[in-house]
Amino acid sequence: MKVKIRKGDTVEVISGSNRLKRGEVIKVLPNERRVVVQGVNLHKKHVSQIQAQGRNLSPGIIEFELPFDISNVMLVCPKCDNPVRVSIRRDGEKIVRVCKNCSADVD
Ligand SMILES: [Zn+2]
Repeated sequence: MKVKIRKGDTVEVISGSNRLKRGEVIKVLPNERRVVVQGVNLHKKHVSQIQAQGRNLSPGIIEFELPFDISNVMLVCPKCDNPVRVSIRRDGEKIVRVCKNCSADVD
């Protein structure tokens, strides 16, 4: 089965403790069938010092998103603003995702 969720999509979590949360997909792990969604499934980590791009950031607690199963999210249609199933339409070389709710092209 093809993964219909892509990086940059807005998705809604449909099950688990993060249910009804929405966020942007920041990473898709197609082989593991997992996604990382901004602001969802946050975990806290205590750090003494962070080095990021050569800068030292102050110690403290950082929050980061953990990947979770792709079947727990649904794509939010930009047209009808609902979590929807999509079908696939071929437009020449391009694969276009179509909202099954309002028939709008998602891509
Ligand atoms: Zn729609």
